[in-house]
Amino acid sequence: MCVLYDNFLYFCSSIMMKKRIAVLGSTGSIGRQTLEVISANKDFFEVEVLTANSNANLLIKQAIKHLPNAVVIADEKYYENVKQALSSYDIKVYTGNESLAQIVEMSTIDMVLIALVGFAGLKPVMNAIRCRKLIALANKEVLVGAGELVMKTAKENNTSIIPVDSEHSAIFQCLHGELYNKIESVTITASGGPFFGKTIKDLQHITPEQALNHPNWSMGNKITIDSATLMNKGLEMIEAKWLFDLSPSQIKISVHPQSIIHSLVHFEDGSVKAQIGLPDMRLPIQYALSYPFRLQNQYKRFSFSDYPSLTFFPPDTTTFRCLPIAYYVIEQGGNMPCCMSSANEMAVEAFLKGTLPFLQIAEVVEKTIQQIPFLATPSMEDCLDTDRESRLIAKEIIKKQKSKTCQ
Ligand code: NDP
Repeated sequence: MCVLYDNFLYFCSSIMMKKRIAVLGSTGSIGRQTLEVISANKDFFEVEVLTANSNANLLIKQAIKHLPNAVVIADEKYYENVKQALSSYDIKVYTGNESLAQIVEMSTIDMVLIALVGFAGLKPVMNAIRCRKLIALANKEVLVGAGELVMKTAKENNTSIIPVDSEHSAIFQCLHGELYNKIESVTITASGGPFFGKTIKDLQHITPEQALNHPNWSMGNKITIDSATLMNKGLEMIEAKWLFDLSPSQIKISVHPQSIIHSLVHFEDGSVKAQIGLPDMRLPIQYALSYPFRLQNQYKRFSFSDYPSLTFFPPDTTTFRCLPIAYYVIEQGGNMPCCMSSANEMAVEAFLKGTLPFLQIAEVVEKTIQQIPFLATPSMEDCLDTDRESRLIAKEIIKKQKSKTCQ
């Protein structure tokens, strides 16, 4: 089971006072929607910290609107700009990756919502856990790359990690009230992305613009490409393994193009619970912030008349090769998921820059995995080393592919 939150003290405090929230990655897709949820629920939440990598203009606007205690602009180039723009406000301004990792230690923070992208979230997550902050986690690559370590540290520190990812929020919601009941399996649903039903031949000349055109969800660039390659489902299987203590054989994937059923839990008596809702990330974000309560909102409601048919298909693992790679690394365990995720980050970046064809994303990941030595129980240092080495190897492979294509 996920480190579930049934701490009586928290229960009392959560109904008595506002939750002060640090939003890491506030300028991204999840971060912006989190601020929307907070703005709509000012009696329950207030912003304590905001962070961005390089989008200084948006960070400044958000800071002036939400008046946090502190902001971090990770890229040092923009520090002076942010500092100057906020000089007449009582807002502390920090910069650099160390500040990003340390900001979560502030004693005035109750909850840290982590919406950074990629492995950059590892240090802030580990620090937040060690400081026993309540964590709302969107940044799945952290659990993929260092899940064992993160969950072990969370358990030792009695810290709760509440999932924000819609599929994992769905499983989390289905498990509410099921503390003593065994999970037989879970089914994670996948939209299928923009290329559902396409063949390898159809995908030869896919451009970033085509791959970024997701049919159901509006998300950051990296996850949108992961959704198009189905790597996102691979990452989510590994995320589910750690959050809910599942074996790989307990995790199934079903392609459900309407994105209405967000995931299902199958119990050992044959009962199946599913969580249903419109594809709107504000719902799982709000649930993570307000858990264990549900807050009223004005979002559009689900109606069966809008969705007369809900359909389900097995994933196409021949066309979308990232998924079988994820099956392989989840079985292998150790540092292999970390390697897969880091190589994928590099390959996606190269695809978005136009230097790697869409179909070669899986190839780069596969070749990187073949070159990284296997470590069964990686330490934090091992995870960071695997991440660094995988990126270097993937970079080399991408360079070679590029020069082959140019010849
Ligand atoms: P975005 O790319 O939209 O936003 C990422 C945020 O993190 C931005 O604020 C960005 O700052 C910041 N950031 C990126 N890299 C760094 C870095 N190296 N150091 C510090 N800050 C950094 O991503 P999303 O919001 O789409 O996704 C965030 C996470 O949530 C991902 O792990 C994704 O898989 C997961 N997720 C996202 C969903 C979605 O609907 N978007 C759904 C479910 C999960 P800046 O703007 O300055 O670049």
